[in-house]
Amino acid sequence: TSFWSKVPQGPADPILGVTDAFKRDPSKSKINVGVGAYRDENGKPYVLDSVRKAEDIIHTQQFLSLASKLAYGADSKPLKENRVAVVQSISGTGALRIGMEFCSQFYPGNKTLYLPNPTWGAHPAIADKAGLEVKRYRYFKKETLGLDFDGMKEDLTTAPEGSIILLHACAQNPTGIDLTQAQWRELSDLVKSKRHLAFFDMAYQGFASGDVDRDAFALRYFVEQGHEIMLCQSFAKNLGLYGERAGTFSMVTASPEEKERVLSQLKRVIRPLYSSPPLHPAQLVATILGSPALYTEWLGEVKKMADRIIAMRARLYDILLELQTPGNWDHIKSQIGMFSFTGLTPEQVAALAEYAHIYMTTDGRISMAGLNEHNIRYFAESMSKAIK
Ligand code: PLP
Repeated sequence: TSFWSKVPQGPADPILGVTDAFKRDPSKSKINVGVGAYRDENGKPYVLDSVRKAEDIIHTQQFLSLASKLAYGADSKPLKENRVAVVQSISGTGALRIGMEFCSQFYPGNKTLYLPNPTWGAHPAIADKAGLEVKRYRYFKKETLGLDFDGMKEDLTTAPEGSIILLHACAQNPTGIDLTQAQWRELSDLVKSKRHLAFFDMAYQGFASGDVDRDAFALRYFVEQGHEIMLCQSFAKNLGLYGERAGTFSMVTASPEEKERVLSQLKRVIRPLYSSPPLHPAQLVATILGSPALYTEWLGEVKKMADRIIAMRARLYDILLELQTPGNWDHIKSQIGMFSFTGLTPEQVAALAEYAHIYMTTDGRISMAGLNEHNIRYFAESMSKAIK
């Protein structure tokens, strides 16, 4: 028998028992005046607005502080000196719009945004809506399927002094080609000597190397070098929160006082766009980044996602070689992040859709995340066939 078989049934609580009786009563005219908790005009429990607002502030502040630490690093000098202006955005897209609108209104230099060629498809449209002129700098070299660093440097050198330069912080979309750390250092000097504004888009922190700190190298290096950078941060990919629209826009300013002025104007940019940000994504992200156990678990998951993608690159490379596919396929392995720029021509892309039911954008970009152990051989064989 159980230890507790002799425990007798206790009597109903005299007050809670009243509510039980009230609930059981089917009458339409029933009234419960037994419980001493405030009820509003409709007889409903009441959460005070001041409490709700305080809760919102706590979550939003935690979110902004934790999100900036993730991007800039816990030791970041401007963060410690309280001179980073940061606002919650509607994911990365919203951050880009806020930053570009702000530049359009307040940037004192050349209001032309230089985008890498190629870049994420929405960049030019967002810049256009924000009223910035768009130009391109060379980035991808067709002949080598690699980075055109000389072309990039040349274009950023001939750009008028004080232009706005959009830089993918890591895992460039669509090419999957990033600068090396040495190249980032060189670029930092160039951008500084030309007094350009470095505008970072970081949509894939963690997805390039599997390590969130390593992927933040470019951003943190520029900040260390004293650039007053802008940053668009998205949690869509690294937290898998596509639908929550969690993100931030931030900018490094010269002083806490300047930060406050900038912040007041960022709020004025946001007000007519979406007034105030949604609370739930901020709560989610703040809870994960702010709880040591969940944070560690998340870092492991980011690494797992990145590693699976890296493993798929190796598999695709191996099978293409095994099938003696004409061409050099080193770039499949050397490119990083979610995407790979295969070098497939628009005709080959069309043939893959028609004959193999394989779909990708016409520029030959594939999302490595769409490949897995079950479909990779079929994919590689079809790709090889399309090329032969
Ligand atoms: N920037 C880049 C380079 C991207 O690839 C994306 C999404 O694909 C974004 C920004 C914005 O994404 P989201 O608005 O979903 O955060």
